[in-house]
Amino acid sequence: MNSKKHQMKYLTILMGLAITLLCSSVNAAEKNIQIVTTITDLKVLAERIGGNHVSVISLTRGNQDPHHVQIKPSDILKVKKADILIINGLGIDDWINPLINKSRNNRIRSGTPGYINASTAVSILDIPKGKVDRSSGDIHLHGNPHYNLSPTEMRKVVLLISKRLSSQYPLLANDFSRNTKDYLNTLDQKILTWKNRMKPFSKTRIVTFHNGWQYFFKEFGLESGGYMEPKPGVSPSPKHINTLIQRIKESHTLLLFKEPYFPESIPNKLASQSKIKVSNVPSYVGGVSSVNSYIELIDYITSQFNPAEQKEN
Ligand SMILES: [Zn+2]
Repeated sequence: MNSKKHQMKYLTILMGLAITLLCSSVNAAEKNIQIVTTITDLKVLAERIGGNHVSVISLTRGNQDPHHVQIKPSDILKVKKADILIINGLGIDDWINPLINKSRNNRIRSGTPGYINASTAVSILDIPKGKVDRSSGDIHLHGNPHYNLSPTEMRKVVLLISKRLSSQYPLLANDFSRNTKDYLNTLDQKILTWKNRMKPFSKTRIVTFHNGWQYFFKEFGLESGGYMEPKPGVSPSPKHINTLIQRIKESHTLLLFKEPYFPESIPNKLASQSKIKVSNVPSYVGGVSSVNSYIELIDYITSQFNPAEQKEN
């Protein structure tokens, strides 16, 4: 009798433990995962993959130059609460490192499962050959960090984020995988549409302020017509601008891309002294108010190319 009573008590404790374990795993599955990203494009992709399981904050706005970011005390708090941190990498968002240190959040330190460097999924362009010359002021020391403007590269980033979230939250892996599949189906269709739209512009030359469009040019078969910055991050001299004006006059250069965070004066000077058309383009989601998704971003940029204008030149 005594031993039966003992057995019952043991069984009750075991059942209690099982229920507690089950409840905690359900809670873990239902808990809203806090994700912080350094740029808006990674925010919108993480939202598509994570669906209603995630809350995502971007530390920069789409009309901000992510190369030059002033960190705020409120950013430390955001990073402190993060379960997952997704960075662009390749030096463009190195300002995240002091934020990670100040937040004292060990879940998202470099090398932990909560730290995702999206550039590790990307085929990097413009990797410097030989010794890097920091003294020249070049800010693309690890290769070109502007891969967000290539939908094909961002497709790889979607797969990386999905894989990493699934391994971190295995109970939600089926949801992440379904969301990823749905999104990539839409993105793949759009990539075909964009490539068709851009076909007539093969080898067209585009002038930009900064060397931030290499991945976009490669994706759509375009060519650089020169940069207003002599080196990434280095201000243009009048001599450099005059040489560029000469180059635009002598060659067929269709458009000048100007991002919201660069000054207007130099592009306007180029436009007034040559026939080039200035196109104000966002380079990140949110760069202009009508662009709120990654697909809207590439839609907006590719719609700057007008086949009628191409024929006129
Ligand atoms: Zn750059």
